[in-house]
Amino acid sequence: MNNYDLAIIGAGPTGLFASAFANLHGLKTITFEALSKVGGQVQWLYPQKNIQDIAGYKSITGINLINNLSLQAAKTTFITNHKVKIIERKENSTFSIDDTYTVKSIIIAAGLGAFRPKKFPIQLNENLQKHFHYFMTTPEDFTNKDIAIFGGGDSALDWSLQLAPQSHISIVHRRNQFRGLESSVQQLKNLDNVEFFTPYLPKDVNLVDNKIVLTLKAVGTDSIIEKKFDEALVAYGFRSDNLQLRRWGLELEEGLLKVSRTMQTNIDGIYAIGDTVNYPGRVPMIALGFGEAQIAVTNIMNDLFPDKKMTLHSTSI
Ligand SMILES: Cc1cc2nc3c(=O)[nH]c(=O)nc-3n(C[C@H](O)[C@H](O)[C@H](O)COP(=O)(O)OP(=O)(O)OC[C@H]3O[C@@H](n4cnc5c(N)ncnc54)[C@H](O)[C@@H]3O)c2cc1C
Repeated sequence: MNNYDLAIIGAGPTGLFASAFANLHGLKTITFEALSKVGGQVQWLYPQKNIQDIAGYKSITGINLINNLSLQAAKTTFITNHKVKIIERKENSTFSIDDTYTVKSIIIAAGLGAFRPKKFPIQLNENLQKHFHYFMTTPEDFTNKDIAIFGGGDSALDWSLQLAPQSHISIVHRRNQFRGLESSVQQLKNLDNVEFFTPYLPKDVNLVDNKIVLTLKAVGTDSIIEKKFDEALVAYGFRSDNLQLRRWGLELEEGLLKVSRTMQTNIDGIYAIGDTVNYPGRVPMIALGFGEAQIAVTNIMNDLFPDKKMTLHSTSI
């Protein structure tokens, strides 16, 4: 029951399209995703942004792209909340994954590794945790509210711009300068319902009458202020690690996987695609990952069925 032709590790856009393309070629495919939802960086970092460099779409929001890719890959078995830890080669040239799944081939589409948000620096009790968010996937949850947004990068600014038409926004950042786009900062400065607290650092936080009561300290002074909010969004960036890749015996170059022109790693039967790989001239873009998925799946078909004449085009399958 746990036998598959192909296991894909990571369900970002690249892993999703590889799953769809493998389905098309009739490969029994299982795809693992460490996080609770598929979609990788697009799902978690910029679901509402318009992507304008995917062939065939003048513009498509991140979330719509991920929904479409998921529909296209519907025949795949998806296992979310499962970070793959162990890959072992078996004697009959199959692989065992986490001692549970037996697969004939593997595609690693793990991006920069399983990523998790950098946490708010003050310990939050269970009730406060319900009001602190690290992702903004459903803007409706933040309508008509007083929102604190922490951070100085593009995510903090994008979330502020997106929520400003419907809520009061307070941007809290430890510096006066922002890392994100200056044009976004200027746009936000022109809005009446957006306040800037810079350079401020959070010092204390409590929940009183279901409101976040936040103590902020002005950096370099003794000045303290107290503000109340309904919800808080934390955009301090992400940590990701691909230490796993080393443990699996894969060859890396500058922290990313080295692949041949067929997208195979140094281990026969293990391929890698998307942001997890590096080669001269590669750029971290979605469309490129789609093409790499097609190269990897086509070569896996050749590996698994060497005597079969490969049907290349979907129109002929
Ligand atoms: C703000 C921003 C805007 C961008 N805009 C664009 C754009 O307009 N156009 C464009 O082409 N590109 C854009 N990009 C880049 C694009 O998002 C990435 O190139 C793309 O997401 C890479 O896809 P991927 O599937 O290779 O990796 P990811 O999207 O990183 O997905 C990898 C997935 O693998 C999972 N994973 C990792 N390790 C494991 C494991 N051991 N077990 C199970 N699962 C695992 C992770 O949890 C993750 O979900 C943007 C990126 C950012 C940050």
